[in-house]
Amino acid sequence: MSLGMADIPVLVLEAEQQLTHDLRAGAFHPPTIEMLDRLGAAERMFAAGGLPHAHWQLRDRVEGLVADFDLNLLADETRFPYRLHLEQHRLTPILLDLIRTTTPSVEVQFGQRVTAVNPDSDGVTVETASDTFRGRYAIGCEGVRSVVREAMGVNYEGFTWEDRYLATSTSYQLHDLGFAGAGYISDPEAWAAVFHVPDTGPPGIWRIVYPIGPEVDEKQELQPENLQKKLFHILGSANPEPPGGVFPLHYNSIYRVHQRVATCFARDRLIVAGDAAHANNPLGGLGLNSGIHDAVNISAKLIEIWHNGADSVELFDRYDRQRRPIHHKHIQAMSIRNKRMLEERDPVVRRQNLDEQRAIAEDPVRARAYLMETSMINSVREAAEIE
Ligand SMILES: Cc1cc2nc3c(=O)[nH]c(=O)nc-3n(C[C@H](O)[C@H](O)[C@H](O)COP(=O)(O)OP(=O)(O)OC[C@H]3O[C@@H](n4cnc5c(N)ncnc54)[C@H](O)[C@@H]3O)c2cc1C
Repeated sequence: MSLGMADIPVLVLEAEQQLTHDLRAGAFHPPTIEMLDRLGAAERMFAAGGLPHAHWQLRDRVEGLVADFDLNLLADETRFPYRLHLEQHRLTPILLDLIRTTTPSVEVQFGQRVTAVNPDSDGVTVETASDTFRGRYAIGCEGVRSVVREAMGVNYEGFTWEDRYLATSTSYQLHDLGFAGAGYISDPEAWAAVFHVPDTGPPGIWRIVYPIGPEVDEKQELQPENLQKKLFHILGSANPEPPGGVFPLHYNSIYRVHQRVATCFARDRLIVAGDAAHANNPLGGLGLNSGIHDAVNISAKLIEIWHNGADSVELFDRYDRQRRPIHHKHIQAMSIRNKRMLEERDPVVRRQNLDEQRAIAEDPVRARAYLMETSMINSVREAAEIE
């Protein structure tokens, strides 16, 4: 979108026949909302039912509420002091419509799976099953199995967690049990992330994501009776009373989670952004957000190169310097720390962790510093400072 707004010709090749409609990310942090606002998308996200949640909680599965964090503490730092919840598959139609109606220099072709990318001294040749295209640069935004990243010959370093994550959702309203719109439940076995998302409209649905062990059979785990049992276990101490004793369930899926960062984000005429460049667990809602931060960062540089003849080698290096270390220092570190904290098994360490989180939330100075980090304001500002 940013490139189209600067009248740069762009061809988007998407493997699927249409936009996908699956349960993925759904929380946008303040700097991301600011970026989407500059693209004209934020207003439409609200119109599509996006839910601003200023509070998020840390809870213990048995003891209940541990800490409540209030993003209003950042009201002097951002115009959007909240997390905006909207499913990823509700944002993509907004962006596609904006592209089609406002940026004539951008063309989107569906059903075009990229199979090969070959850079040379003048440009890049991109092949799909049926066509060959030429461009000056290729940006790989095609997820963890990136063809562009492979063509760059860089590693995707890190690891894949043993446990998988099951995401389910219920229209039973957890607000009624004292839940804030976003929350994390700590437990050595049955930890979970809980998010209120708009779905097709008010009152919205609650997404609950929890781990399943490597030995567990996926089909078995997705049986309705097992999902019900698990939800009662996770939410039990909050005393849920769904009608007829059954949570009304909606979407379910199971996915694998990686912690990986490519060893280089831009080389020659090739660039990677989003999951093609990095992947992390969903605890903290950092994956999609940081991918948008990459895209906005590299777009500004490509505009400088395209319109003002800036040196691409220098600016691609700067993109790599600005974004790659940020992923290690902030995104990987935070998402891994969040997971370890939620699943901590040592009762003494668990108690210390929860007490520490409560103390932070209750002290406005510490809470503000913590929220600057967890809402990704620090990582975006730090990247911008890197020369
Ligand atoms: C099931 C699931 C649940 C998730 N839940 C959360 C969550 O709760 N919170 C969170 O923060 N993150 C979550 N994530 C991660 C988050 O969705 C990703 O970080 C985000 O989607 C990354 O966006 P992206 O555009 O980089 O990649 P993707 O969303 O993966 O998009 C890549 C696109 O490229 C297309 N493509 C792939 N290969 C090719 C090719 N060769 N040629 C052309 N097109 C291609 C794909 O069809 C797809 O449309 C989840 C991911 C999954 C898979």
